[in-house]
Amino acid sequence: MSLAGKSAVVTGSTSGIGLGIARALAGAGADIMLNGFGEPSAIDKLRSEMAREFGVRIGFCDANVARANDISRLIDATIKEFGRVDILVNNAGIQYTASIEKFPVDRWDAIIAINLSSNFHAIRAALPKMREHNWGRIINIASTHGLVASTDKAAYVAAKHGVIGLTKVVALETATSGITCNAICPGWVLTPLVEEQIKGRAACEKISVDTAKAELLSEKQPSHEFATPAQIGALTAFLCSEEAAQIRGAALPVDGGWTAQ
Ligand code: NAD
Repeated sequence: MSLAGKSAVVTGSTSGIGLGIARALAGAGADIMLNGFGEPSAIDKLRSEMAREFGVRIGFCDANVARANDISRLIDATIKEFGRVDILVNNAGIQYTASIEKFPVDRWDAIIAINLSSNFHAIRAALPKMREHNWGRIINIASTHGLVASTDKAAYVAAKHGVIGLTKVVALETATSGITCNAICPGWVLTPLVEEQIKGRAACEKISVDTAKAELLSEKQPSHEFATPAQIGALTAFLCSEEAAQIRGAALPVDGGWTAQ
């Protein structure tokens, strides 16, 4: 498969799953607009290393996807740098855990803005550009928590269920075009977002980080293994291929069997 000549925006791609996706798309030949937080020097280094490794152009935009105006700036920056936006991966996301009575209102608002509304704003801005070429791929990184719930994750579960609903609507509205929209639903992937939850669990239960990791997996993920950013990246790249042109409006789990239970 070759994505040579295509350009991709991946939100939240300075770490974790987003970086795995950016690397997979760059590996298939796409130019990449990175986005996310991080030290400017570390991001510069990442850009030059990826450009050298994959022989593609790697841009960066520091848009905060909690803000609609910043998301317009991200899509504009991609058009300015690469002349087009063919692939949009809505990946940036945050987590906060607390029971609903104790859930801080500002954390609810932030999670809905970053994990759900950002997908709407980015799709709204990018879709007209994809329609110009009658080709596009929109991939929203949802979660198993878009399909099933867990305690203490009211905002995250609500946002991720919303992402899957949004994915289906966009898939229907683009169904007769060369543009597809799908969601990927990872189970546990060992990234900074999950490492925070593991550390929290270890501290709360006064157990080692390794025990907390094993407990986390055995509780939800029948394979007892983490999925990897590279695996999520490979599926994203496949969804960008011509072979995947009739996969539309799907929510695809990569979860070691979590949602088969
Ligand atoms: P991560 O914390 O490793 O990476 C998050 C990325 O998003 C970083 O690049 C960060 O800088 C960026 N980001 C955060 N807030 C942002 C903002 N306001 N504007 C722009 N960028 C922002 O997390 P991750 O585990 O790689 O998660 C990526 C996505 O995958 C999220 O949507 C998450 O909900 C989803 N997901 C993760 C897991 C998992 O187990 N790690 C499981 C299911 C779904």
